[in-house]
Amino acid sequence: MSKRNTPLSIATRVVNDFSAARPHDQYQAVVPPIYLASTFAQHADGTPAAYGYQRSGNPTRGAVESAVAYVEGAEHALAFATGMAASATIFSSLKAGDRVLLTSSVYGGTFLFAEKFFEARAIEYQFVPDFNAITEIPSDTALIFVESPTNPTLRVTDIAHVAGLAKQSGARVVVDNTFSTSYLQDPLALGADAVVYSGTKYLGGHSDVLAGFILTNDEEWYASLKIASKALGNPLSPFDSYSILRGLKTLVIRMDRQQQNALELRKALEEHPAVERVLTPGWYSEKEAQIHARQSHGDGALFSFELKKGIDFHTFASHLNIIRFAVSLGSVETLICHPATMIHEDLTPEEREKAGISDQLLRLAVGIEDVADLRADLLGALSYVTPLNNEE
Ligand SMILES: *Cc1c(COP(=O)(O)O)cnc(C)c1O
Repeated sequence: MSKRNTPLSIATRVVNDFSAARPHDQYQAVVPPIYLASTFAQHADGTPAAYGYQRSGNPTRGAVESAVAYVEGAEHALAFATGMAASATIFSSLKAGDRVLLTSSVYGGTFLFAEKFFEARAIEYQFVPDFNAITEIPSDTALIFVESPTNPTLRVTDIAHVAGLAKQSGARVVVDNTFSTSYLQDPLALGADAVVYSGTKYLGGHSDVLAGFILTNDEEWYASLKIASKALGNPLSPFDSYSILRGLKTLVIRMDRQQQNALELRKALEEHPAVERVLTPGWYSEKEAQIHARQSHGDGALFSFELKKGIDFHTFASHLNIIRFAVSLGSVETLICHPATMIHEDLTPEEREKAGISDQLLRLAVGIEDVADLRADLLGALSYVTPLNNEE
């Protein structure tokens, strides 16, 4: 039976991977054991063994791959040392002359990868500001790499529309679903060929592990990506596999709480005189709002806001007591960062302006704390920077 057809809710699937066969575990532990071994003894008579050298396969990594695939409702999963390792492995299947289209405000690391490696390998690439407005793509397009909603400007791309365009040219569509997770958005069902995750974020959920995943229903591509990962030497370690297995169990309850907190904090900021505007999925246009409502089950727990011109974000941030000033997202603690200097510093000022990342923009990744404490922290810090006269 395809995992995709499971009748169980995702809140149940994150807790227990009922798709996993555990023939090797004589004790039937409810938590898969951590197999640290770098190598496994082979049958001297030549009968194939389940595992050989760890880079090719490991039971704990196998367990997390099975669990993440089960949660996503995908046939296949591969686990990587980081989210960027997952994306880099996708990109390793490109060859000279291929064309890649990417969402304009793609994750900073993905942007860096494109700038650093595509040109040197004669791979044509273009950043597309608005896939929703495109009706045709170049016929030599091999890969379309989409993020929706984007980081940190929360722009929305119609995934089903992009998948339709890709069909015409035979391009593959990959969606970086890190912000939404399997809980809120199902890119494979919308026609994507693969999903990538930075497991470092919501899947792990505790700011204590880096990990990445590729999920796909394409058997052939999966097999070749698995070989690529072995050749690149970038799979997830057994201990880190365990950390993701542990974090995954609370994905749904964390996300529920985080989304609810985010909604309340958004409301507080939207009304605040020191805040120019709040950016959440759909803020950009009615069209994007409709697309997001159609393809996603929620706004997630990350949003951005712009302080009014002239307000110094350092002063604001230095008065926060609970909310930490740090990059990353998706964890139980609330983090705030300044994208222009902390995540998109590799872009030129012109590129940042084009991507809508102003110097007044701050990104809030909301955690699971008591929302009244978080609100008081934000409003308290804002009170230090709020202009007294807000008339003009
Ligand atoms: C963090 C992140 C990545 C990269 O993940 P790492 O685990 O840091 O390598 C990729 N995409 C998005 C959207 C991210 O937030």
